[in-house]
Amino acid sequence: MSAVEASASGADGAVAAPRPMRCPDPQHATCAPLAVFASGEVDFRMCPLCRLLFRARFPSPQELEAIYGTAYAANSIEAGVTNQESGDYATDVYSGYIRRRLLQPGARVLDFGAASGELVSRLRGAGVQVDGFEFAEAARGYAYARRGISLLDRVTDIPHAAYDLVTLIEVIEHLTDLWGTLGQLRAALKPGGSLFITTPNRLSWRARLEGGRWREARKKFHLFLFERRSLEHHLRCNGFAVQEYIRFAPVLQAGLPSWVVARGTQAVGLGGTLCCIATRR
Ligand SMILES: [Zn+2]
Repeated sequence: MSAVEASASGADGAVAAPRPMRCPDPQHATCAPLAVFASGEVDFRMCPLCRLLFRARFPSPQELEAIYGTAYAANSIEAGVTNQESGDYATDVYSGYIRRRLLQPGARVLDFGAASGELVSRLRGAGVQVDGFEFAEAARGYAYARRGISLLDRVTDIPHAAYDLVTLIEVIEHLTDLWGTLGQLRAALKPGGSLFITTPNRLSWRARLEGGRWREARKKFHLFLFERRSLEHHLRCNGFAVQEYIRFAPVLQAGLPSWVVARGTQAVGLGGTLCCIATRR
């Protein structure tokens, strides 16, 4: 059973039907959500207390398996469909930043939501001790077949208090059990260890302009969308403190104008990516 299934199944193993989503903060669960980014099949709601966006209807485990199976089919990966649109450039940027700024010699890293294993491969190539975890069977199969990397697939196999750094690159918005997973990642970190998080910024200039047509809102496996306030709230509730936001951003298109727009909007909080470092308290 995958972690996706486990999170949505009862103790008797019966798979739960799709259910309306609420804010994962139990103290906010009775608060009526507001319709935001809701048009056509895009059905996000916003918690008025923490401003977290979440889908009104939780996809069933079968629907999620189908979505990920299609997204992580080898031909989709090779066409760049699942590579966060930013492709090799983003992995290059993140890998370089992580090695320069976040790792001491001998540090141990977990890439949670490792997808096809690209970051794991790059960090291992640079001599870093790194494990990867991935929910999607198709992605794990690709990582093993094409890169020779075995990714962990059961949360219970992740060791406790073992890692100096856990990376969540374009992953937190996919989590079916946001609070449960943050708790598991906190347990995986050594005391004082760090989370490196990137996620779409729902207050980016493009999201503000496009609303429910924003490409990140239309991706069916995006269950949550964050802004700084909601990200900080849910991290704080689960034992993390945000240390800093990183002002660089992967530049998706070549050319100086694209670079200026990406760096300029990121600097004033309107960029497409929220990128932060949080430490385990
Ligand atoms: Zn809330």
